[in-house]
Amino acid sequence: MLSGEAGNNVFHVISNGKGNPMDDEVERARAVVGESGRVVVLTGAGISTESGIPDFRGPSGVWTKDPEAEKLATISHYLSEPDVRRRAWRSRVDHTGWRAEPNAGHVALVALEAAGRLELLVTQNVDGLHQLAGSDPGRVVEIHGTMREATCMSCGWRGPMQETLDRVRAGEEDPPCLVCGGILKSATISFGQSLVEADLDRSFEAASMCDCLLAVGTSLAVFPIAQMVPFAAAAGARVVIVNGEPTAMDGLADAVVGGRISEVLGTICGAG
Ligand code: ZN
Repeated sequence: MLSGEAGNNVFHVISNGKGNPMDDEVERARAVVGESGRVVVLTGAGISTESGIPDFRGPSGVWTKDPEAEKLATISHYLSEPDVRRRAWRSRVDHTGWRAEPNAGHVALVALEAAGRLELLVTQNVDGLHQLAGSDPGRVVEIHGTMREATCMSCGWRGPMQETLDRVRAGEEDPPCLVCGGILKSATISFGQSLVEADLDRSFEAASMCDCLLAVGTSLAVFPIAQMVPFAAAAGARVVIVNGEPTAMDGLADAVVGGRISEVLGTICGAG
């Protein structure tokens, strides 16, 4: 399935010939999650696109439409080119994420947590929508960082992004760190930057001890974090994949559900 129409409902698991194959697979996914006391969730861009946040590499993704924009997220360009930083700050001010609201997919994971069965929620998203939906920040690992904070590349200062964006709105095109004068950046992990070791350790440890690994809205093509799925499976966990398009790891899964995440995740998590 190569087409990229928004909201496509293509079902990509072979039906058993009885009833609606989509319903069968949602039911199977619901059963697997329902039988699992300790669920670890891995989410990607697909859970936030319905909140109006574009993904980066999809058919209408930010970098697909404007390859130059990828430079803004590459650490070597960012540190060496003031013009790249000025463009990055402008795009942060204009980011659609500031107006985005969590959707039913985020809410479904809050319900799973409320039922006492969510061990850890690892997200590749930097939008903070899981916490806005009500997920306990203590159970959320933002493996690629957060757009809601700014950080200094020299002294490590961190603070709310909006305070730095206010300086940009007031006319500072490339605001320096107020502590040390260093270069400020969104507290996201750029290309060329390392992931936080402690976050990786926590994610893989949880994956090794869970009953079910539930992957939502991720193509499972970004490493090393996608390795959580085969890692969990090798440790005996069952795997459920919910994604609009097939993933490279569908073959590992006990259930694979296509379609719109906001419409199916509530049922799968026992919330609807
Ligand atoms: Zn500093």
